[in-house]
Amino acid sequence: MPRMTTVRATCPFDCPDACGLLVDVEGDRVLKVRGDPDHPYSQGSLCPKVNGYERSVHAPGRLLGPMIRTGLKGEGKFRPVSWEEALSTVAGRLREIAATHGPESILPYSYAGTMGLVQRNASHAFFHAIGASRLDRTICSPAKGAGWKAVMGDTLAPHPDEVLEGDLVLVWGLNAVATSIHFAQRVKEARRRGAEAWVIETYRTPTADLADRVLLTRPGSDGALALGIAHVLFRDGLVELPFLRDHVEGWERWRDEVLPECTPAWTAGKTGIDAAAVEELARRYAAARAPFIRLGSGLSRYGNGAMNVRCITCLPALVGAWAKPGGGLLGSTGGSGAFDATLVTREDLQPRPTRIVNMNQLGHALTELDAPRVMALFVHTSNPAAVTPDQEKVLAGLGREDLFTVVHERYLTDTARYADVLLPATTALEHDDLYASYGQYVIQRVAPAIPPVGESRSNWDLFRRLAGAMGVDHPFFRQTSRDLVDALLAKPSPLRAGIDGAALAEGRGVELTLPPGAKSTFRTPSGKIEIENPRHRHPLPRWLPTHEEDGELPFRLVTGATVWALNSSFRERSELRDREGQISLLVNPADAAERGLRGPRVVAWNGLGQATFALQVTDRTPPGVVVAEGVPWLSHVRGGRTVNALTSQRLTDDAGGSTFYDNRVDLRPEA
Ligand code: SF4
Repeated sequence: MPRMTTVRATCPFDCPDACGLLVDVEGDRVLKVRGDPDHPYSQGSLCPKVNGYERSVHAPGRLLGPMIRTGLKGEGKFRPVSWEEALSTVAGRLREIAATHGPESILPYSYAGTMGLVQRNASHAFFHAIGASRLDRTICSPAKGAGWKAVMGDTLAPHPDEVLEGDLVLVWGLNAVATSIHFAQRVKEARRRGAEAWVIETYRTPTADLADRVLLTRPGSDGALALGIAHVLFRDGLVELPFLRDHVEGWERWRDEVLPECTPAWTAGKTGIDAAAVEELARRYAAARAPFIRLGSGLSRYGNGAMNVRCITCLPALVGAWAKPGGGLLGSTGGSGAFDATLVTREDLQPRPTRIVNMNQLGHALTELDAPRVMALFVHTSNPAAVTPDQEKVLAGLGREDLFTVVHERYLTDTARYADVLLPATTALEHDDLYASYGQYVIQRVAPAIPPVGESRSNWDLFRRLAGAMGVDHPFFRQTSRDLVDALLAKPSPLRAGIDGAALAEGRGVELTLPPGAKSTFRTPSGKIEIENPRHRHPLPRWLPTHEEDGELPFRLVTGATVWALNSSFRERSELRDREGQISLLVNPADAAERGLRGPRVVAWNGLGQATFALQVTDRTPPGVVVAEGVPWLSHVRGGRTVNALTSQRLTDDAGGSTFYDNRVDLRPEA
């Protein structure tokens, strides 16, 4: 009888908390996944999705062996084959397609289904080596990074625990209760210690319940609110002049050339927030001993997303918040440089630079891109049929009979149904990896808790074997995933100096120690905060309109997060789906009345497509804004389309990001 043991792991999902897990194992089964009380950040608590993750590991629908399609594309009918047959089929078809159409006709598609540095990036070296098209992996929030970088360069973000020392917390565009539960706990604790919390959002999310004040901005107008606050701070002499003079570039030009027109009345016109509330927020921000902003990502997913973030990122400089314990702004800790991921991605293995395809434009790539046409698509760690914008185009592309599609997955997702060859993938409890977070500063090395379930293989194991089958003979591919973890850890980084190596080797979460004064050591070319950035095409932060500022359809569509899933992950779990209920569209009562909506369902439509939702009439969302929370699998919803049937392939102002929040729709009752 096998003995029960408990091992440590990290939650692998695309979530800033990167919680520590304790995994109770008996033989090759996971009995229970629970929170690790010793984890420095999550301290033992987990969200309901992962508290019970053993149900995902051993889900009834788990793919256990390789398969080859027998039905129509999208039908999800397959026959089992051996790994040998599957690999030789994939290698043979990729070789043939490369020879006939050129290697750039092969397109990899992957994102953050796992956040581990090895498994997330495991395919890059292989596709570089065979000369495939490169994928610009920009579906999440590159515009947020670009907005921060334009002002702060590579400055380290403050530790999230700084919020506990703040006396004013602005939770700006972050539904922390759904997407950063441990930060939400810290906001509660900061309030208990006397801080005031404001939530700034496009609709009243559950996070609003944590706040003393809630301001609802018109979608995509967050930059205008920041400009209005900056206007009041300068106008009323509330800025910290010594800090500006010593540490900030370009503030005088910004004050004189951009801000004069950004009056509270102008701000009210752009944001829908009353001028008096703009004045009040600005005064409160200036008066705070230590104002802390926690910035979400949604506000960067507009045609003006990078500029929104850039405008907000200027605010702490105006009041000298970077010099105050508990002050500053946290958008992401992801650029800390704790590890060098290029040791895994190995772009240097490319024979020559190849074309780059933006992942948000997969629909275009599969249906319109030419010279060469995409003839092979290899998907792992993502479910593009559900999560990628312009769903009708994506599905039309996936349905092409002449497209050879390989999917490496754990379940029969929407995308897996279109595979010609479907390969079973491990969960994060079945392979080695190394984790760093984008919402805190804990790193963790993780070994497999159980052997691969069925015949599943990790991403790295798949791609190194495929390299062998394709005749790619490079020593890089002879390494194991454990070797890659070792290589990542062997390359020194100042941020890892002095960490507890023994604890890391044991698999514990280990906190990185930020150097003293890190948040006020400005890593920009000038060594100062760059409100004026001479290298940017807009040297000064300013208002930019969204794509849909003056769109014709009446309702702005916002895609929100849910507690019960993470994008399309966790949809294999029927108990989570049951607790969530039907995917709803939130509609203000006035809009519902005006459109004659009485339920139970509503159809949202625009020029791209349509999707059916349960109707939820609620004043949580303001008039003119409708909200869809969550991305289900197509096979689980009426009409077989998600909110991404309504989102476009247009990109952000910088960095090629997605614009999931920058769309309009009209509504009608379901016939
Ligand atoms: S999804 Fe986020 S909150 Fe939930 S366990 Fe994973 S890291 Fe923690």
